[in-house]
Amino acid sequence: MRRNARVAKEGSKILFPLGVIEEHGPHLPLGSDIFWSKKICELVRDELKKQGQEALIAPGYYWGINHCTGAFPGSFSLKPETMKQVLFEIFENLKAFGFSEVYCFNYHGDAHHVNTIVEAIQRANAELGMRVKLVLEAMDLQLYQWKGTEEFLLVSEPPYPLEWFEDGAMEDGLLDIHGGAYETAVMNDFHPEYVDLELAKTLESSSLSMTDLQKWLIGGEETKALVPQGYAGNPAGYAAVAKHVKEMIALQVTDIAGRIVAHI
Ligand SMILES: [Zn+2]
Repeated sequence: MRRNARVAKEGSKILFPLGVIEEHGPHLPLGSDIFWSKKICELVRDELKKQGQEALIAPGYYWGINHCTGAFPGSFSLKPETMKQVLFEIFENLKAFGFSEVYCFNYHGDAHHVNTIVEAIQRANAELGMRVKLVLEAMDLQLYQWKGTEEFLLVSEPPYPLEWFEDGAMEDGLLDIHGGAYETAVMNDFHPEYVDLELAKTLESSSLSMTDLQKWLIGGEETKALVPQGYAGNPAGYAAVAKHVKEMIALQVTDIAGRIVAHI
């Protein structure tokens, strides 16, 4: 506590992990998204420290919005107004502790969830005079129709080698977006104790076509009928992604930490 008070006085940064509790298929835990955010926050904090900057990690917030997978048991979902109010009050607490600069890390792409985070951020910045930002990769900007210059964003653009996208890790033209090869590989790197890899190897692909994606986005029973096992991707294909996971995460962490330092 004493250390926190000292760090707050020095105007240090807060790294805030956000996520949801959401079903991720039979092979991954409900907490996959918040485990992911928390781990990235730890790695970014360590990288900032190497660059002489101190950051603290706030307790994780994981009562988010699950629109797409909301019909599955285990996908807890709050009303947007509830989530927005709770997040705003968390920002109020941080401000009262002496922290104004907050970076939000979120790895749950549901637009209802992400837009609610952004509304809470905008309110905190406007009403509390804080500098809260959502960390987002440039390739995800189009999902939310943002330009990248919005004051509530810290846009990261890690220099991924192009050949990663060409080596067959993903099935041709299909989307691996939830509990598939990508998420299984990352979770297995971060928290192998929570991943049933033997089961993942036996699961059939349910990667989505662009037409399927529209059904996925409808949510509820429509999504459940589309992917009855609860994952949208190819868990058994994790090995091809796993080859690059450590380097990919290292590129992300270095890029984000560099931009946080440069932002001062
Ligand atoms: Zn997830």
